[in-house]
Amino acid sequence: MIKTRFTELVGVEHPIVQGGMQWVGRAELVAAVANAGALGFITALTQPTPEDLRKEIARCREMTDKPFGVNLTILPTIKPPPYAEYRQAIIESGIKVVETAGNKPQEHVTEFKKHGIVVVHKCTSVRHALSAERMGVDAISIDGFECAGHPGEDDTPGLILIPAAADKVKIPMIASGGFGDGRGLVAALALGAEGINMGTRFMCTKESPIHQRVKEQIVANDERATELIFRTMRNTSRVAKNSVSTKVVELEKEGTTFDQVRDLVAGARGRGVYENGDPEAGVWSAGQIQGLIHDIPTCAELVARIVREAEDIIAARLDSMMASRRMAAE
Ligand code: NAD
Repeated sequence: MIKTRFTELVGVEHPIVQGGMQWVGRAELVAAVANAGALGFITALTQPTPEDLRKEIARCREMTDKPFGVNLTILPTIKPPPYAEYRQAIIESGIKVVETAGNKPQEHVTEFKKHGIVVVHKCTSVRHALSAERMGVDAISIDGFECAGHPGEDDTPGLILIPAAADKVKIPMIASGGFGDGRGLVAALALGAEGINMGTRFMCTKESPIHQRVKEQIVANDERATELIFRTMRNTSRVAKNSVSTKVVELEKEGTTFDQVRDLVAGARGRGVYENGDPEAGVWSAGQIQGLIHDIPTCAELVARIVREAEDIIAARLDSMMASRRMAAE
């Protein structure tokens, strides 16, 4: 068992988190992650209204008695949601852990902290991690360039970003972006994090509420099968490579505006991919970790495997290297 400041803070068995994922972070997946001893987050904005979010939280409670949280992401949207009302639904539902992500979270952090909620803020740079720490969040999820969704604009991969943040951030930190197996967990711990956050890897599990065909596409994809859209709009998003995302990148090279690609990129269209199983129907988030995803396990199998692999690497592989050094010194 790997115990860290993060597992103690949020009260879970394993240092593994399933972070917010638009259209994917629903009760079935979050409950399965919780029952596997990891920490799952329901994605607030996947629910059409704050009232639906309350119902989704209640539905998740029917499927697990373990801790789980809610993600609230604040990024540019086609139709701005009523963030304060979603926040109120989270607070009134008695949620104990929240993952915030995106721009200017202060107002939300202040309100969540007033209600004793543990806040994990996901961000993509050391300066934003330090600013979130000053805002009073309890933990940072530091998100490298490998990630699915929004990697920010600095393009710093985890191998640099995680230790750079660990050198400065004092509160517990989990590493996000490019994680999917025990090797990644050990690497994250070595780089200064106290757990890992996974999105794409959890998307590709039995309980993940997306079409089987999309899971199979993730297994088929390699690490090169992503595109970065919205680069020219300073809202970069890493999505699966397909005819739609490639078209958006081409249009951006020609100098398009958001309005000209709005219909191609609309989240509602991406949602259709997950529901109908046509990976070419719209843009959908996926990270470079696709290259290391080769199966569709249950969440329990996945979490147990990652922990077992990590323990084996630490106790056998790394320790044996230390032993041979000791022998050489004798
Ligand atoms: P949407 O349909 O409102 O927008 C689709 C995409 O276009 C999103 O990536 C959005 O950031 C981007 N976008 C919207 N307006 C833009 C503008 N004026 N300039 C540049 N880019 C713009 O998004 P959705 O799929 O309904 O998602 C709702 C919100 O949740 C979005 O802000 C999205 O970024 C965010 N999100 C959250 C998660 C999460 O894990 N919680 C994951 C992915 C996306």
